[in-house]
This record gives sequence, structure tokens and C-alpha cells, in this order.
Amino acid sequence: MPWCERCDRFLNPNTVGSDGTCPSCGREIQPPSTISPSATGTTSTVADEEVKAPWHFWLMIAGVVIYLGWRLIEGIVWLVRSWF
Ligand SMILES: [Zn+2]
Repeated sequence: MPWCERCDRFLNPNTVGSDGTCPSCGREIQPPSTISPSATGTTSTVADEEVKAPWHFWLMIAGVVIYLGWRLIEGIVWLVRSWF
């Protein structure tokens, strides 16, 4: 929902000009706070993803940990067998 700070009211998206200006005062409309994080820069987007930590991220971490753990066990077994 577009919000005009000068008019202090929400605006119908259909009434907002094609250039994103308020039909009443002609001021450029600020994007809604729910959309602005993804629209402003890459740093805030990365921060959001770090906070949310989607499930496939943890799945990938778990997969890497399990894989590396398995390779570590394999390496230890290989070392023990080569020594004795
Ligand atoms: Zn306005």
C-alpha cells in the first residue's frame, strides 16, 4: 500500500501516478516498509536472509557437516589401516 508522508494517508496503488508520485501533492511516494528492505541495496537483503536462515540453508550446512564428518572418519580409518 503506497503511503504519502506529506498527505499522511495511504493511497490506492491505481491512483498513484505512473512515475510513483502522489496525485494530491505530487510528492514521490515512499515504498511500503514491507517492500523497501528488498528494494534497498544488497546489504539489508543479505541481513534479512541471515536472520531468516531458510531451511535449505540449514539442509546444505547439515549435508556439508555430514559429508566432511564421513570423509574424516574415512581418513582416520585409512590412516589406521596404513599404519598397522
Ligand atoms: Zn501526497
